[in-house]
Amino acid sequence: MTAIAGAGLAPGAAAEAPRRPAAPAVYDVAVIGAGVFGVWTAWHLAKRGASVAVVDAYGVGHARASSGGESRVIRLSYGGDPIYSPMARESLDAWAEVSARGREPILHLTGVLWFSPATDAYMAKSVDWLAANKVEHRRMDLAGLRAAYPQVVFRDGESGFVETKSGALIAGRGVRAVLADAGLEARLLKAGPPEPDAGGVYAVGPDLRARHLIYACGPWLPKVFPQVLGGRITPTRQEVYHFGAAPGDLRFSAPALPVWADFNGGELVYGMPDLEGQGFKIAFDPHGAVVDPDTQSRQISAEGLARARAYLAQRFPGLAEAPLIHARVCQYENSSNGDFLMDRLPGHDRVWLLGGGSGHGFKHGPAVGRRMATHVLEPATPVEPRFSLATKATRAERAIY
Ligand SMILES: Cc1cc2nc3c(=O)[nH]c(=O)nc-3n(C[C@H](O)[C@H](O)[C@H](O)COP(=O)(O)OP(=O)(O)OC[C@H]3O[C@@H](n4cnc5c(N)ncnc54)[C@H](O)[C@@H]3O)c2cc1C
Repeated sequence: MTAIAGAGLAPGAAAEAPRRPAAPAVYDVAVIGAGVFGVWTAWHLAKRGASVAVVDAYGVGHARASSGGESRVIRLSYGGDPIYSPMARESLDAWAEVSARGREPILHLTGVLWFSPATDAYMAKSVDWLAANKVEHRRMDLAGLRAAYPQVVFRDGESGFVETKSGALIAGRGVRAVLADAGLEARLLKAGPPEPDAGGVYAVGPDLRARHLIYACGPWLPKVFPQVLGGRITPTRQEVYHFGAAPGDLRFSAPALPVWADFNGGELVYGMPDLEGQGFKIAFDPHGAVVDPDTQSRQISAEGLARARAYLAQRFPGLAEAPLIHARVCQYENSSNGDFLMDRLPGHDRVWLLGGGSGHGFKHGPAVGRRMATHVLEPATPVEPRFSLATKATRAERAIY
């Protein structure tokens, strides 16, 4: 058990086994936001013996949250990035454990197929990282791709690889399962900015006071902290489409098709095989228009749907005429370059800003939560420079995919 010296936690909080006490007068930590970053932070804090309250303005895994909806890719390839590949690896194991304990699966190990022009540097660095770190994968030349996946059209000059032991996470179910696994529930409550009393305790809502606050508010962070994060975390509209193959056509389901990512020099298009009868998913990763997560329209656009159909006709012609069986409009919560935010609110030693998932955060929930919990429980832990507030600029220059 880690010491909590100087953290300002309730005496003895870390020395006890995980428990479900009656609500304390003052919680060690209040986590504001029950998206994937918030629930995994609460999970780690609770497992380490801290008393934790979780609140969310709309509930856990709700339709407007970035963590809501059907599915998310979990992959280890990050072009050799020294932070995100190890975090994804750690997280994959944690997701597998929670998935195994639940009544319904969270993790589907379909594998992840990457393809791109054979000369792509990001892809080459990803494969080098997988090889150097002994992560099971299979490299494929053009002939190999065409033989293994005849339902996909690969272009001359392309090559790829498959991460054989990664795949997809079920998103909304996943965040609910993590919170339940921690023995926690979320209160329906919209929190305001922090206001400590004379003793340094923060009132989050009626009957809810805490010594530490973690604002894991995803795309809402700049609404809660407009002075600090306005222009530094930018929500963008992202559309997702699910198409239905004909009954009995298994070419677009696992195991015939893994999760796939068409890297295309960073103009990433990605999708899923049919998981749990939800249809073949396709999404475009480039950022859409800037939106407000409370009020943006959740209806897909005619242009977006036409673009998806055009892509299908080129890459997955067997689905060119397939019906759209459901669709979803969500938002990324982008930092300037795609790095996460995990840093103290200026002027408040015990208040943290957590977010900036930037379209790739879901998979990392377990590793993000562990790191965030460590900051609270061991306050001398240095902030990762790439996650610092100081590195969050107002000009978008995406570097992380
Ligand atoms: C279409 C789409 C596809 C994606 N694909 C992938 C993928 O394949 N792989 C991957 O790893 N990641 C993916 N992501 C990114 C990932 O889903 C997000 O980065 C991640 O879910 C962000 O989680 P979060 O906890 O920061 O935010 P959220 O899930 O939005 O959670 C924030 C929560 O805070 C609550 N809140 C806000 N303000 C307040 C307040 N004042 N008081 C109380 N509660 C408040 C909100 O209600 C919300 O529930 C995708 C995202 C989208 C939208």
